Amino acid sequence: MPEARFLRIRGVVQGVGFRPFVFRLAAAHGITGWVRNGAEGVEIHAEADALEDFVRALQAETPPAARIASFEMTAVPALGCERFEILESTGEEHPTVRISPDLPICAACLAELFDPGDRRYGYPYINCTDCGPRYTIVLGLPYDRPRTTMQPWPLCADCAREYGDPLDRRFHAQPVACPACGPEYFLQMGEERWGSGEAIPQAARLLREGHIVAVKGLGGYHLAADARNGDAVAALRERKVRKEKPFAVMAKDLGVARDLIDLTPEAEELLAGIARPIVLAPCRADLPSGIAPDNPDLGVMLPYTPVHHLLFAAGAPDVLVMTSANRSNEPLAYRDEEAFERLAGIADAFLVGERPIARRVDDSVVRAGCLGPAVLRRARGLAPGAVAKLPLTRPVLAVGADLKNTVTLVVEGEAFVSQHIGDLQQYEAFQAFQETVRDLTAMYEVDWDQTLVMHDLHPQYASTTYALGLPAAETRAVQHHRAHIACVLAERGAFDERVLGVAYDGTGYGDGDDDKGSIWGGEFFVGSIRGGFERVAHLRGALLPGGDAAARHPVQSAAGFLAQIEGLPDLTAPPFGFPPRYLQARELIAKNVRTFPTTSVGRLFDTAAALLGFTREVTFEGQAAIWLEHLARTAQAEDPLLFPFDAENRELDFRPALTELVEARRRGEDRSTLARAFHRGLARGLVEAILTLTGIHGLETVVLSGGVFQNEMLLGDLTRELAKTPLRLWTNREVPPNDEGISLGQAAMAVEP
Ligand code: ZN
Ligand code: ZN
Ligand code: FE
Repeated sequence: MPEARFLRIRGVVQGVGFRPFVFRLAAAHGITGWVRNGAEGVEIHAEADALEDFVRALQAETPPAARIASFEMTAVPALGCERFEILESTGEEHPTVRISPDLPICAACLAELFDPGDRRYGYPYINCTDCGPRYTIVLGLPYDRPRTTMQPWPLCADCAREYGDPLDRRFHAQPVACPACGPEYFLQMGEERWGSGEAIPQAARLLREGHIVAVKGLGGYHLAADARNGDAVAALRERKVRKEKPFAVMAKDLGVARDLIDLTPEAEELLAGIARPIVLAPCRADLPSGIAPDNPDLGVMLPYTPVHHLLFAAGAPDVLVMTSANRSNEPLAYRDEEAFERLAGIADAFLVGERPIARRVDDSVVRAGCLGPAVLRRARGLAPGAVAKLPLTRPVLAVGADLKNTVTLVVEGEAFVSQHIGDLQQYEAFQAFQETVRDLTAMYEVDWDQTLVMHDLHPQYASTTYALGLPAAETRAVQHHRAHIACVLAERGAFDERVLGVAYDGTGYGDGDDDKGSIWGGEFFVGSIRGGFERVAHLRGALLPGGDAAARHPVQSAAGFLAQIEGLPDLTAPPFGFPPRYLQARELIAKNVRTFPTTSVGRLFDTAAALLGFTREVTFEGQAAIWLEHLARTAQAEDPLLFPFDAENRELDFRPALTELVEARRRGEDRSTLARAFHRGLARGLVEAILTLTGIHGLETVVLSGGVFQNEMLLGDLTRELAKTPLRLWTNREVPPNDEGISLGQAAMAVEP
């Protein structure tokens, strides 16, 4: 008798061509048996005289988008199977089987796309099991064509044959289509309309001529324009009402991308990787200043849909601004009518694909950081992959924070983090948030009677109010910065690990005994997910006149932090030149009106930025801190400013550093050198605090999270200093350290002691 094994493979193994891959492998190794999608992943029954090679190949040669989380194998009696089969979906699959993120067009499809002899030559919806849309077309689970937005296009005989042939590359590729049976693209410009064949070349011509074209992609529309054409870029900025937030660009190919940004091998790997994100790196090209005003970095991505490749091949400019199609801070437009309406005054023409988009998904943003790849926005190509396995049996929905919102749904212990949704103060983003909650909970058939809902402690957050109105069994609040620390530990499956957690960010609602409701953002915790986190130290307290609104005006934060500095000169005079708002903020403090206690490191960065010249209003979150980091890059010297850690009061003191900053600026010292000194000093002070606190509490692991740790310079300084110690440093790997990570951290805090 042959040997037989039953295998269960969990992870991202559905919707990524795994079953046909198993089938082809079985054929190659002379294996009989079957493969099917089971409740928890892929199940295989394999029989042969020797199975080792097959089993090894199963693990080693997986399809590009598959990710194996666990691989279980048991010996079973042989059934005497005569061939290998792909069994139909039994309908018993549990809805927890994972949906894979969207994939870029694969090499095989790309070759066919440009092969005049191929029946899909030039077809903008070409795809196969190794590539194409997933999350953006799924309407329900399990993932099968009738439950996708491809449902209106019945397969022609040729496509049906490929779809049904287990040895074909398109076997069960749900979005399979061809020019004979599938959707098409058309171009609309005013009353004029160009159909398939004409649409893309005409769009490329418009882009060459400096027009702005709305291009339908995977998770929404982009606004495209020639990135080397200053007038086109300026027009786009003006029409979009986007003052300074950088635009991302799409480079025709890797060669062009290499000319645009400094690409380390790590960055290049991210750029060309399966998620095809926007990669942030120092810009080396001479592009119009309107692309990323006042910003030495540039976000670049490569083409990832057939349409992008066709556009470049049809002669579109080799670098295109590709920015999410919205006005100002609204969420990305993804429905055709919505796009026509909202983008009417922005786009000159619309390149529209007929396939509907099931849900809005932005481009992801990553950077090759000093501690490995850092995700700054987690969306297309990454969401909604399961990022963590949590020891939770009941369903948990965590609604995140109000800024950079995401939601996390935990089903049978799998934590699915949604794509980046946005800032919930915006009406449209709040709509998108509600849509996402409905979408995720419906897709995974969440039973509200069982569900635990986690939300932020901030009573005025829109997400909090919404959470409390859900028909859930139970709701629980999690303090913002504890959630930041918990999300790092959740990613690593470390639920009992006692750590020192450092949460540095902009704002979060605090729950101190004596300062409940104050604005935190420079916190040190000791503890674990299971045992809870005790706040053991923090940035020295300051005052924040105007509360959360101060985040928009660095001079307002400065008024609060500098109120503790002795002998302060008149900062409205040169070289500081603070606007009148600064004096108004000082008045608020003097009268103790709308003034809140804060420990926010984000606001400390704003203060330093204001002292070094950033005295205007910020137009996007974190702008002043990013400006300060960039200013520091050009520095020659790097003497650290002094940030002593006061072990007795357990606080990091900013007064000596700010005093020196004021004095040095008055003496006319070089601003970039001072910006560098600020970073160095802050890192050094943090290291001192870390060494003291890990010593006192006997800890070996330090966890860093919060938006401030997106600062690559601070992280670099810190890493270098800590490398000399035996301490282990953990930061986020799967979710961003900014508030996009909060929902995962909230979900993790549902784990019982
Ligand atoms: Zn393909
Ligand atoms: Zn067809
Ligand atoms: Fe935060």
